[in-house]
Amino acid sequence: MIEDKNQQRTQLSDLGEFGLIDHLTQNFKITQSSTVKGIGDDAAVLNFENKRVVVTTDLLVEGVHFDLSYVPLKHLGYKSIVVNLSDVFAMNAKATQVTVSIAVSNRFPLEALEELYAGIETAANVYGIDVIGGDTTSSTTGLLISVTALGEVEANEEVYRNGAKSNDLLVVSGDLGAAYMGLQVLEREKEVYKVNPNNQPDLEPYTYIIERQLKPEARKDIPVLLAELGVKPTAMIDVSDGLSSEIIHICKQSEVGCDLYEEKIPLDPQVISTCEEFDIDSTTVALNGGEDYELLFTISQDDYVKIKANPNLTVIGHMKQASEGMHLVTRADTRIPIKAQGWKNFNA
Ligand code: ADP
Ligand code: MG
Repeated sequence: MIEDKNQQRTQLSDLGEFGLIDHLTQNFKITQSSTVKGIGDDAAVLNFENKRVVVTTDLLVEGVHFDLSYVPLKHLGYKSIVVNLSDVFAMNAKATQVTVSIAVSNRFPLEALEELYAGIETAANVYGIDVIGGDTTSSTTGLLISVTALGEVEANEEVYRNGAKSNDLLVVSGDLGAAYMGLQVLEREKEVYKVNPNNQPDLEPYTYIIERQLKPEARKDIPVLLAELGVKPTAMIDVSDGLSSEIIHICKQSEVGCDLYEEKIPLDPQVISTCEEFDIDSTTVALNGGEDYELLFTISQDDYVKIKANPNLTVIGHMKQASEGMHLVTRADTRIPIKAQGWKNFNA
């Protein structure tokens, strides 16, 4: 809650646009050999030699994608980078550079943007990527952040959504539903705070799920792990909108069907206990929650032995003929058609 903080407030107009950009980007270091020229000229210059280049963009809008009353700006900066890198990793590529563009209203002091950029810098350091440019402009409404991420991959090692074959195994990294349940806890606490600002919530039982919401990580390790294991997925996507809509994307683009086994869906114990507390079905949360930033991919059955012992990876189903449809096979052994619940930002 930036307005509440009894801290120094420097007006953005005191610095001017160029002073502001210099100030915010002064600590950024170039570490990638593919970055020839970073921030400071009319454009950045990159050299990927014989690699393929992947490019992806996301736009985050205050009030639609984030709520500054419970998202600290440092976390927002971090998350805005991570969600883009997740798309790069979902192509089986290595992330190398980002550009960051912001539109900001004069309600934000310099100190707020310093927080945002501290998060961006931390993400750049953690993921070993270069911030090579961006744009800065004013906004009359709230904060907008657009990040473009670039990555590199050897020719023919990139993985699309459209390569899954019937009988391939469906695999997911990590666990699902935690970010959504973290959001439920944060929204509940926001309501409690509105009624009684002196009420100090005990968030200890929710540390994992709140961290998954506020400070998600992208699976940089998975493309590396798969290369080490000698597995090239036939299709891959990152889980941003929820497992069911990502499965549908792979199935539609690959022209296959799927059986997803409810009992196989990986859930953290904190997700299970918080779902019980909120009286929400944990499978529904895993299917439709989103913002997990795990990787969902398909592999040939022949590769099963290479991945089966890995604690980061869970086989949750298998692909079928398109004519057989897409189903959730429940614990009670009933078959429920998988439906898309995405686009929640438009329905909200
Ligand atoms: P131009 O007028 O050509 O758009 P700018 O003055 O906007 O140039 O940008 C100057 C340099 O600072 C460029 O290298 C640009 O990419 C970089 N830059 C501008 N805004 C940002 C930002 N918000 N974050 C990172 N780099 C930025
Ligand atoms: Mg500009």
